[in-house]
Amino acid sequence: MIRVDLHMHTWFSGDATITPKLIVEGLHTHPFIKGVAITDHDTLEGYFHARKLAVAYEDILIISGIEVTTQQGHISILGIEEKPTRLSSVESVIDFARERNGTIVIPHPYRELGLGDIARNIQADAVEVLNAYSTNKENKMAKELAKAKDLPGVAGSDAHTPKYMWAAYTEIKAEPNVDNVSKSNRRRLVQVASEKPGKAII
Ligand SMILES: [Zn+2]
Ligand SMILES: [Zn+2]
Repeated sequence: MIRVDLHMHTWFSGDATITPKLIVEGLHTHPFIKGVAITDHDTLEGYFHARKLAVAYEDILIISGIEVTTQQGHISILGIEEKPTRLSSVESVIDFARERNGTIVIPHPYRELGLGDIARNIQADAVEVLNAYSTNKENKMAKELAKAKDLPGVAGSDAHTPKYMWAAYTEIKAEPNVDNVSKSNRRRLVQVASEKPGKAII
């Protein structure tokens, strides 16, 4: 089993202050979260930097990811190392992800820049049901969406500043390697949890 924060931004996002170095060192020193998906807005630069730095550590897992800005809202792809064109349609980004065997996660569907009810009709692998930046109500609606779509729920901090790092994480019942973690999302072996007081452990 591995605990992974599946939604993290670096300063390459343009609206975040976290450095790749801080993420790698933070994972190494964290008592139980040992994996992260770096999901910058429309870039993989932060992931490439973190992956390079992570070579020095044996106990941590860096998963590639990208939070894509589509015409309809944000959608995240894990496990790919190429980026789709910004402001494409959500359907074309999903095709892009499928062609590359990426894992598609619907982030914060009911918050600003989320897909909202469009998410009901798209094909994804998981719904983010716990986002540390979302309200309890928004997270609850996301959880209902996951249930309606019969998809696993995942969690991530969506940290843009160091204070929020590791505020939510996903427990994945798999050996810690990138392929296992991506596939586990599809096999529904995930549980989400938060170390923040006041947020439910689902
Ligand atoms: Zn977003
Ligand atoms: Zn985000």
